[in-house]
Amino acid sequence: MSSKIHSYPGTEVDLRELQAGKFLLTSYETVLRYSWTSGVAMSRFLDGLKEGEIWGKKCDKCERILVPPRAYCEEDFAPTDEWVNVKDTGTVNTFSISYVNNDASRRKKPIIVSVIDIDGASSGMGMLHLMDEIDPKEVEVGMKVEAVWKPRAQRRGAITDIRYFRPRRR
Ligand SMILES: [Zn+2]
Repeated sequence: MSSKIHSYPGTEVDLRELQAGKFLLTSYETVLRYSWTSGVAMSRFLDGLKEGEIWGKKCDKCERILVPPRAYCEEDFAPTDEWVNVKDTGTVNTFSISYVNNDASRRKKPIIVSVIDIDGASSGMGMLHLMDEIDPKEVEVGMKVEAVWKPRAQRRGAITDIRYFRPRRR
């Protein structure tokens, strides 16, 4: 489409002319305010985290327990049914150990990110979260872990209400 455009109307602005103040410049910061609903299923899940609970939803058709909960089962294209309170323990499904920060700087203590299969949820219902209180060399697939929660007063209905998972003690 753009290959058919051979000339553009107007006059190209030259940087030197711009710096010389030949053109009027206006700058402003855009203030964007918005709200976003997390939906019925995710709202209850996030409310549960405030209480130190993990909630899933069961699909009666395929009998899977989905965690995090979803309003619709993606296998059956049907609304999910009952709420199920699952445990805050699970099994390491997979993990990654990173010695690099977001800005590419190096870390002495690595970040361990893991997919945890939550006990009480169906197979394959992994929750992506951090792991800590473990030597990175000792992390392995199949390891039993438990959630370490923030103190109740600090929870705000976010996945970070769980600080991390650690090897199971209880
Ligand atoms: Zn289903």
